[in-house]
Amino acid sequence: MQSQTVVCERNEHLVYRCIKCGCYWDTNGYNKEELKELILQNKIGVSSGYCPECLRGQAVSKIRKSQKQNGYPSCYLKAEESCDQTACCYRSSCLEEEVDKWRDLVVLRNSYIEDKEKS
Ligand SMILES: [Zn+2]
Repeated sequence: MQSQTVVCERNEHLVYRCIKCGCYWDTNGYNKEELKELILQNKIGVSSGYCPECLRGQAVSKIRKSQKQNGYPSCYLKAEESCDQTACCYRSSCLEEEVDKWRDLVVLRNSYIEDKEKS
């Protein structure tokens, strides 16, 4: 079974990084400006996975197949508004409102780092 993020509950200082687009996001509610600095100085643990936007863009058929194999409706990205599968592990990238919530957690887009490295 494929999981979209790797979760490490023990390490408080951990951000997530998308292996495709390189964006960073945080689920612990830390100050984003402080996190940016920690990331740029490599002073924070990073857990890699796909961000919801990239997952949406590339794994649709794989995810639907996995849903079916695990006995669920293969409904990924088919929901118009809401979905009653509240425990679904793909929910965070499937529903637009969940992706919007994730966008609020983004600390850094990759372009920010590239800009910083150029200067
Ligand atoms: Zn991404």
